Amino acid sequence: MCLLRQTGEKNGLLGKGVLIMKRDDCIFCRLANGDVPARSVYEDEEFNVIMDANPASKGHVLILPKDHYADIHEIPGETVEKVMGLAKTMADRLARNLGADGINIVQNNGKAAGQTVFHFHLHIIPRYEGGPAMVTWEPQELPAEEMDAIQEQILG
Ligand code: 5GP
Ligand code: ZN
Repeated sequence: MCLLRQTGEKNGLLGKGVLIMKRDDCIFCRLANGDVPARSVYEDEEFNVIMDANPASKGHVLILPKDHYADIHEIPGETVEKVMGLAKTMADRLARNLGADGINIVQNNGKAAGQTVFHFHLHIIPRYEGGPAMVTWEPQELPAEEMDAIQEQILG
């Protein structure tokens, strides 16, 4: 982990200096902070929104914090609140500018959940009528006792 003083000289968007916690060995740190070229569609002091290199649909973008957090467990709650605000801005923009008929917001945590890049990111995936199925699962029916037991476990 290293601390970097970001000056904003490169794109003139950022203005005053801020401290960014980034990892040099993390591709999303490098993309988010402009160390590696990315197709950016939004940038501010804390976030970069870039086009996914292998999109699930037309306009699939990723919200990346410039600070390195591996996943939902590491990222501070206040940063997640900002991520969700930005997700709405981007979802509205994708619907308006690309004519998306729907939007999926996906966020994977851990290998078991399909996370492949271990820097927190939110997928915003525009959907189009007649497009391929995605973000699907097999709905299960569990006995009430099992649902009760799971409810108790979650409540702790
Ligand atoms: P995950 O499975 O971790 O939730 O999603 C990782 C996403 O990052 C995938 O959709 C993948 O296509 C995208 N991705 C991986 N490497 C790069 C990259 O170097 N640049 C960009 N723009 N997207 C990437
Ligand atoms: Zn990172």
